[in-house]
Amino acid sequence: MSELRRDPILDTWVIIAAERGRRPSDFAAVSEQLTVPSGCPFCAGNEAKTPPEIFAIRGDTPANGPGWEVRVVPNKYPALQIDGDVERAGLGLLDRMNGVGAHEVIIETPDHLMDMAVASPEHIARVFDAFDQRTCDLRGDQRFRHIIIFRNYGAVAGASLSHPHSQLIALPIIPSIVVAKLEAARQHYADKERCIFCDMVAQELTLPERVILRNEHFAVLSPYAARFPYEVEIYPLRHSHDFILMSAEERLALGETLRFILQRYREALGDPPYNMMLHTSPSPLPRAGHPEYWGTLAYDYHWHIELMPRLTKTAGFEWGTGFWINPVAPEDAARVLREGSDATGYNE
Ligand SMILES: [Zn+2]
Ligand SMILES: [Zn+2]
Repeated sequence: MSELRRDPILDTWVIIAAERGRRPSDFAAVSEQLTVPSGCPFCAGNEAKTPPEIFAIRGDTPANGPGWEVRVVPNKYPALQIDGDVERAGLGLLDRMNGVGAHEVIIETPDHLMDMAVASPEHIARVFDAFDQRTCDLRGDQRFRHIIIFRNYGAVAGASLSHPHSQLIALPIIPSIVVAKLEAARQHYADKERCIFCDMVAQELTLPERVILRNEHFAVLSPYAARFPYEVEIYPLRHSHDFILMSAEERLALGETLRFILQRYREALGDPPYNMMLHTSPSPLPRAGHPEYWGTLAYDYHWHIELMPRLTKTAGFEWGTGFWINPVAPEDAARVLREGSDATGYNE
């Protein structure tokens, strides 16, 4: 029988309909072609095809030429424009503001075929260094309230170029899904003086059924109220509201953790398209009239990563209700993804 489950943080409901489930191999794989398209603007040697770089991890080589490991450039077709003021305004019930923001592309490697699923943990840690550098820089801009970093893998997941890359968007508002998480976390802290994410992770780790991997620094969980088949969440075990506070050792462990789960997606699910989202603290700049607005943020919020393979289609029911039907029980997803992992110990 299917089951209704409430997400304890977002207060949203999902339908777990396991009898509709299909085996992982029944899902159509939409693998990228393992060939390098000629003239790829993100490949080494084609640096002139992108706007000038904003940031790069490179040796002693001149900007906008080869010799880099990770390179950040403005998105050539940005969703938001970097120049201008936000100019909040209202017209009756309608609120508007200018589409001001930053939209950057983090080119994760000069090598077209070196995806995160096969890159070294050290290299993935350097990609996170680039995320960190860009986040710190953009947080200095008073116009931006939230930075989201995401990765679209495969055309179905929204990627338009197959070269490994992530994107960063700095927004003049905090999006509602993030607000819902922040408010739930703040309320839990006000009630109990504990982090809701730490509580949830600790409880999940007492049972093996939804734990995919646990190592010294991270837990990879199949969410209790997963919206999508094989959805995964990665939580740092050390409480921290902001991913920029990761130590070098934790970054390396995150590289290993991320590579493990991406390899499991390849092996168990046939290299599906997926979306990855990095959820970290919003910009904690004080707000006019609300000096204490972020007073407990460092205690109540907990950064994390979400990964969602794109194996099902979103249809009228989901769009009309915000209510998801997941055909794979999260416990079954965890079992499939856990293979090869020692979920109770360090996985190496
Ligand atoms: Zn390329
Ligand atoms: Zn926490």
